[in-house]
Amino acid sequence: MNTYLHSVSLDREKCTGCTTCLRHCPTEAIRVKDGCAVINPDRCIDCGECIRVCPQKAKHVVCSKFSDMEKFKWRIALPAPTLYGQFEELDDIDYCLQGLLDMGFDEVYEVSQAAEIVSEYTRLLLKTEGIKKPVISSACPVIARLIALRFPYLKDNLLPLLPPMEIAAKKAVERALKEHPELKREDIGVCFISPCPAKASYVKNGFGDYKSNVDLVVSISDIYFQLINSMKREITPVPFSRSGVIGISWATSGGEATAIFNDKYLAADGIENVIKMLDQIENGMIPQLEFIELNACTGGCVGGVMTVENPFIAKARLQTLRRYLPVSQNFLDENERYVPTDCFFGEVPHYKPISRLSNNIGESMRMMADIQRLREELPGTDCGSCGAPTCRAFAEDVVKGQASLDACIIKTARSKCEGCKNNNEG
Ligand code: SF4
Ligand code: SF4
Repeated sequence: MNTYLHSVSLDREKCTGCTTCLRHCPTEAIRVKDGCAVINPDRCIDCGECIRVCPQKAKHVVCSKFSDMEKFKWRIALPAPTLYGQFEELDDIDYCLQGLLDMGFDEVYEVSQAAEIVSEYTRLLLKTEGIKKPVISSACPVIARLIALRFPYLKDNLLPLLPPMEIAAKKAVERALKEHPELKREDIGVCFISPCPAKASYVKNGFGDYKSNVDLVVSISDIYFQLINSMKREITPVPFSRSGVIGISWATSGGEATAIFNDKYLAADGIENVIKMLDQIENGMIPQLEFIELNACTGGCVGGVMTVENPFIAKARLQTLRRYLPVSQNFLDENERYVPTDCFFGEVPHYKPISRLSNNIGESMRMMADIQRLREELPGTDCGSCGAPTCRAFAEDVVKGQASLDACIIKTARSKCEGCKNNNEG
């Protein structure tokens, strides 16, 4: 039974069953049944592709609203570095941070600050004996779930560190409890301002045995207009940003990888490219690399579906912002050069690999043979009219008893023709 809580949902009233999302879903999680899309929760990785492509805007993100923060006494904002790329002519991050405080947050902890700490930890881990290389970044939750579902043999290559959002949440809570001893943990609300639905799913589900310290996830698009109104250009903000070039660069593809200060890395973005890359890694068809950064969204987090700005424009703005920043504001002191145990996640979640047809090997092999046989009988045009994305996926649905062979209109028409021919010949 699927117990994973998703953040992508469908409005059945708006769906016209056009099959656009079906063709773009990277895990073949969508079927169209009775004229309406249906998401298979076991296969969905919350990548948001179906939200991006739906012409009817029938798919949407399920996450919190800024007003949900009202229930907390002490409100902490965790802005993703992508947020800074959303505003025209923003030349100082502090305007944005001050704007968050003026909007009603009591405190801000930049995720880019935590990203610089994670970069430091990654550099230390890459020098550790026995770490399985290439190390694959675990910061994009889509990649972690994709590996667990579709590439389980690569699970040990995942960087075993909590993502920057989580490190930021831990540090922000520790700081708030220290500076405000009158507060209890339940008084504090930690709100991540997110570019993508996958981060919302991560928070709902935790990571393996780790429960998130983030209480709510709101989308960048949800707070955008309120924030822009509270960013007062005429008042110079108090300088309190603690981010450098490294932290800000995590918002775009390649930012995390270049921060390892080692040439043996690769960065790929866009879910189709990522899947091709993982296939190649699994088949041992890549050069000797130390680190691989993968981002499900094109361009990295700036391409998330919960942003406002075109990702290429956001990227250009971040490049301008970085020009005035130091490389990092979070290099570790000599006596801190180790990774604290509470910054590791213990166990990659055990999802059932989607390629597994049955828990019984004999039964799986029989089903595989049936799928292959049926596939050869199907037209191979991947027309989608049966409601499955490909003829192979349809064959699998039929063998699993989840679809009827009659749904293939081409095969049904051909069978009728054959019948007519036989009758005429008779
Ligand atoms: S893209 Fe998918 S969700 Fe959107 S209308 Fe078409 S079938 Fe429905
Ligand atoms: S969010 Fe991604 S994986 Fe889930 S149904 Fe949509 S396209 Fe498929």
